[in-house]
Amino acid sequence: RRAALQAYKDVPAQTLDGHQVGLMANVGNLNDIIHVSDVGADGIGLFRTEFMLMNVSTLPDEKAQYSLYCEALHALGGKTFTIRTLDIGADKKLPCLYQEQEENPALGLRGIRYTLAHPELFKTQLRAILRAANHGPIRLMFPMVNQVEELDEVFTLIAQCQDALEEEEKGYGELSYGIVVETPAAVLNLGAMLPRLDFVSIGTNDLTQYAMAADRTNPQLTRDYPSLSPAVLALINMTIIQAKAANVKVSLCGELASSPHITPLLIGMGLDELSVNLSSLLEVKAAICQGNMQQFTALAHTALQQDRISNLQQCITSYK
Ligand code: PEP
Ligand code: MG
Repeated sequence: RRAALQAYKDVPAQTLDGHQVGLMANVGNLNDIIHVSDVGADGIGLFRTEFMLMNVSTLPDEKAQYSLYCEALHALGGKTFTIRTLDIGADKKLPCLYQEQEENPALGLRGIRYTLAHPELFKTQLRAILRAANHGPIRLMFPMVNQVEELDEVFTLIAQCQDALEEEEKGYGELSYGIVVETPAAVLNLGAMLPRLDFVSIGTNDLTQYAMAADRTNPQLTRDYPSLSPAVLALINMTIIQAKAANVKVSLCGELASSPHITPLLIGMGLDELSVNLSSLLEVKAAICQGNMQQFTALAHTALQQDRISNLQQCITSYK
């Protein structure tokens, strides 16, 4: 089976009738980035940069971050490189950063809220990324954005970093910008945000947590945190429809994308791109290559009509 999967390594992620999708990898460190080509990915759809802070006692400075991003670009040789800015807070505790105790960390100072509250930390990362973009294409995305005011603040900080870099005569490159759509508010506020964005990526791990009001880390809540439910499917669909109407590329980078049996449904819903775990990539690619878009669209159409989790699951199992 492994050998059979290897056959998909060097072919594009394309359905039998020629519909091509981007198939990216989720990574957390440089070592994973180096192996992205080995599994036949089109690039990186999610680099979780907070992972680089997990086992260190001091924060990497601008120079260290810049070197890391440049090394990654070099290893990717022009393939897509999507960096997510630090997603600190909630279940991600870091030894090198002071974090206030919070009653409800998942509803607290996390993601973009944390970095906007710590602009020096944020600017260090933004400067390193802007400078690295001088050496290759980078897509930059922001976690936990709920509303357009947060984007206003982000873009103001980016403009400040660009001005400073210019003054210091340090080169920087243009970036593509996106957000991780991972709260119901982000889905509902997309209309105001899409004009400012080049792409969006749906983070179903948190989108499920916040839509179902169920802690993603609580083992007692497996029933309340379903991997796929009519509510979350509707939110994904709303995101895709709005992004397409605005001509903004739409990807999905949550764990859901790493389940090959869900792949036909996700592609059928019209996603342009999936970003998956390295270990699932070839299986997901095989699932794309073995079907045709007409079948996938029909499955999505039926799935979107289901109003029970069990029926939705049945719909997926009975496919083919
Ligand atoms: C998500 O929330 O779906 C996601 C991709 O990000 P993380 O799992 O890092 O929160
Ligand atoms: Mg998330």
